[in-house]
Amino acid sequence: MKTTVFSTSDLEKKEVQKKIKYNLENDELVVFPTETVYGIGANALSETAVKKIFSVKGRPSDNPLIVHLSKAKDVYKYVNNVSKHAEILMDAFWPGPLTLVFESKGIFSPVVTGGLKTVAIRVPSHKTAKKVIELSGVPICAPSANISGRPSSTLFSHVLEDFDGKVSIIIDGGPTDIGLESTVLDLTVDIPTILRPGKITKDMIEKVLNISIINHTEVQNGLAPKSPGMKYKHYAPKGNVTLIDGSFEETIEYIQKQLFDKRQNKCAVLCPDEFADMLNGDTIIKLGSLDNLESIATNLFKSLRLMDEMNIDYIYIPAVSYEGLGQAIMNRLLKAANQNLIKL
Ligand code: AMP
Ligand code: MG
Repeated sequence: MKTTVFSTSDLEKKEVQKKIKYNLENDELVVFPTETVYGIGANALSETAVKKIFSVKGRPSDNPLIVHLSKAKDVYKYVNNVSKHAEILMDAFWPGPLTLVFESKGIFSPVVTGGLKTVAIRVPSHKTAKKVIELSGVPICAPSANISGRPSSTLFSHVLEDFDGKVSIIIDGGPTDIGLESTVLDLTVDIPTILRPGKITKDMIEKVLNISIINHTEVQNGLAPKSPGMKYKHYAPKGNVTLIDGSFEETIEYIQKQLFDKRQNKCAVLCPDEFADMLNGDTIIKLGSLDNLESIATNLFKSLRLMDEMNIDYIYIPAVSYEGLGQAIMNRLLKAANQNLIKL
């Protein structure tokens, strides 16, 4: 298949708009930027289109998709029981990086919902994402635009690497802003429960709802995962990833020793700027300052992908605090490290 690439400014052109609409109507896939990461879009009402997402991503069929809408009020068409809490959250955080899980009216195929009775919905704030959904005139499934198991795409070049020749259109929107996927919050349970941490933090949600909510973002032993996506290994570079949790000095010392012991291998450190300034090694990649977790989030996935591009064997990453956005960063890092966390 030949993939056509457009820039975000091309979307002003009538013929480009027509082409995007035509492709989505005809069950083709269109990759577009969102404020979180790039999404691979298909008509959520077409089983044929949605199945293509699973096949090109190599995504397990029990991992449901998030349905993207261009306006919050469309949510009432597809779900039952929009609670007061839901309305407060939609008001406060939509459009934006918060996905809400509702009871489904059953309009979406089980292919979309992974056979669940619930459906995850988000209204993105990115101008291009909104435009694509509006043009299509239908809800759009848009999981992260990466081959399953790889870090989500935050750069146009990553999308091209994974999907050139496999989708009909890719829209180049440059680097994505937030760099981590949306927060997923389950509203079908008595107490709202975070299933995936993201830019919209537990504190931010509790503040607007004025109640305490639950974090259930890791698979618990013996229990079925609340969110099917939780159980899959994710974001993992080919090299061996070690996360290190200790004091600043201990962490520096530990990493420095590993770099020495493994000097016959290709090693890299991905770390906050403060650590980079104190470490000696061939490949020390700065993620951003500890005072600016937003920049660490933005740089995370592209740095993980860089590890594969550089054929790195051993990757060392200092843990960050679980506070605020740190929770989302640590959630992705633990998956990238396959839970390999050294506590000093
Ligand atoms: P992605 O599309 O790659 O951003 O992943 C979507 C995430 O949302 C996965 O972790 C899914 O398991 C989760 N998700 C989607 N739909 C539901 C649902 N109905 N209930 C719980 N989690 C969901
Ligand atoms: Mg994903």
